[in-house]
Amino acid sequence: MAEATHANPAPEGPSRRTLLRGAAVAGGALVTGAALGGTPARAEVEYDVVVVGAGAAGMTAALAAAKRGLRTVVVEKAPTFGGSAARSGAGIWIPNNEVILAAGVPDTPAKAAAYLARVVGGDVPVERQQAFLAAGPAMISFVMRNSPLLFRFMEGYSDYYPEFPGGMPNGRSIEPAQLDGRILGAELDRLNAPYIPSPAGMVVFSADYKWLTLALVNAKGAAVAAECLLRGTEAALRGEKPLTMGQALAAGLRAGLLSAGVPVWLNTPLTDLHLEGGRASGVVVSRNGAQTLVRAARGVIVGSGGFEHSAAMRAEFQRQPIGTSWTVGAKENTGAGIEAGERAGAALGLMDDAWWGPAIPLPDQPYFCLAERTLPGCIIVNGDGVRFVNEGAPYSDVVHVMYDRNTPADQHIPSWLIVDQQYRNRYLFKDVAPLLPLPASWYDSGAVHKAWTIEQLAQRIGVPAGALRGTVTRFNEFAATGKDLDFHRGDSAYDRYYTDPSVKPNPCLAPLWLPPFYAFKIVPGDLGTKGGMVTDGRARVLRADGSVIPGLYAAGNASAAVMGHSYAGSGSTLGPAMTFGYVAANHIADSM
Ligand SMILES: Cc1cc2nc3c(=O)[nH]c(=O)nc-3n(C[C@H](O)[C@H](O)[C@H](O)COP(=O)(O)OP(=O)(O)OC[C@H]3O[C@@H](n4cnc5c(N)ncnc54)[C@H](O)[C@@H]3O)c2cc1C
Repeated sequence: MAEATHANPAPEGPSRRTLLRGAAVAGGALVTGAALGGTPARAEVEYDVVVVGAGAAGMTAALAAAKRGLRTVVVEKAPTFGGSAARSGAGIWIPNNEVILAAGVPDTPAKAAAYLARVVGGDVPVERQQAFLAAGPAMISFVMRNSPLLFRFMEGYSDYYPEFPGGMPNGRSIEPAQLDGRILGAELDRLNAPYIPSPAGMVVFSADYKWLTLALVNAKGAAVAAECLLRGTEAALRGEKPLTMGQALAAGLRAGLLSAGVPVWLNTPLTDLHLEGGRASGVVVSRNGAQTLVRAARGVIVGSGGFEHSAAMRAEFQRQPIGTSWTVGAKENTGAGIEAGERAGAALGLMDDAWWGPAIPLPDQPYFCLAERTLPGCIIVNGDGVRFVNEGAPYSDVVHVMYDRNTPADQHIPSWLIVDQQYRNRYLFKDVAPLLPLPASWYDSGAVHKAWTIEQLAQRIGVPAGALRGTVTRFNEFAATGKDLDFHRGDSAYDRYYTDPSVKPNPCLAPLWLPPFYAFKIVPGDLGTKGGMVTDGRARVLRADGSVIPGLYAAGNASAAVMGHSYAGSGSTLGPAMTFGYVAANHIADSM
């Protein structure tokens, strides 16, 4: 935190001012600035609203602020815009939004409220839950009307706890429609890269992924693969640069900001918040090699993401073993906004948690497993060679169990995903087509092992051979009867989303019998952290005593998640991030 009287020297006189007005500060009023004799400049510019971070929360907030007539700037640490949002699958969980209602989803505010309350339990004040549910649909409508973004219903992608009151087995998540990247012009080059690009020539939606894994064994899978190719061909013929998923989301929001005249300053990290009389009245950023004060006459919205890439913060707040090599979040997300908020007096919450998911530590980057651990013909075992969880459970829950049970005597980190050749013959694994061999580098790195018997495989990964054999035998019996008596895999509609409908009697369960067998190392991966500044239903940052820090707002992974320790459905991070960005901007506008 930079207190005005200390870190902020008095502005230099007018004769020394460096005029910064121009494209880079379009829309902002120049207050003062100084650059003299090589001394690092402390330029001061003023906007109504300063937004930190050009990710999902930040860009939505900036768009909303600008559309309410507020002079707005976004400061972004990376040389690109989009953050983790651009890398993401861009599932967005917003109950009762106009897209799902038009698609006939039988959602109601009462169902959504009952469901969210049951999912998050007592960890999240009802006021915040209600604020999210009330503003979410308005946010989606706003984004559709003020940017080129449109959205599609992800039909069939079940809520993660569909059996809870108000849960939707057919889902209530949406994702962006296809967008032509040419709308961004040269700015498209500054879009953060996707986590895994779509295969060349294909246009793939998140909702297609489930079917693409089945393309070899399922008629709809094959049809969806053909449709993805067709979309790619059509877009190429039209000369388009087709974007989907997080690429479309980030590009669409950025296009909205371009139209609204909101500058996005890349390579401009926040280094501190600026407070005057206890009120957040700006941010200090590093810009063109100089510490620069950007004043915010009406408010600061921190949307600088989580701290997934801060080894120090992870070590301080999270359970061991932990590091920064298993996350798939954007590498710039090192928690600077959260730390600045804490220095300004913010209470922090949920710092021990993350948007966890079982991941394979592949040599180039960790691979966040979805379908791979739920398709029939696989199990996950611990260091004793024993199953310990429903492999098809929501990804966050699986990692919670890994941490809860991990002790030196009872190793659950790493765990091992065991599959047989039958499974490899049928399903896509990451981007490796069925039947094709896995890359040698995966074996070389120790992320995967292969053996011709279960006993040999056990030896390779250091688990008791008899125990692993016993586990496989018992699981194969469950596959035959269709009932997983130990962990109930396949009982929930959610378990049955990423699975193979042709497998009977339970589409989640198939025996492991055909050699060779494979073991993939499983570690606690994440999409980012979910702890940060504690906020209220208006996205205002709170102190530990519950009082508001005037002028300071936070949204997205810089704030403690409205999902608490849980995960309601696909899009439970982006939905609230965008919603609370929108809420913050509107609260600032309403407070004028
Ligand atoms: C591979 C992958 C798939 C995912 N799929 C989904 C999904 O389908 N649905 C879903 O809901 N979520 C998904 N997520 C998670 C989701 O993308 C994030 O939780 C979400 O983007 C968080 O939004 P945010 O605005 O808080 O952070 P981000 O989108 O990460 O944006 C934060 C921005 O702040 C910038 N920043 C950081 N520090 C500073 C600083 N000091 N100064 C200025 N700027 C700074 C960053 O560079 C970044 O651009 C996925 C994530 C990944 C990585």
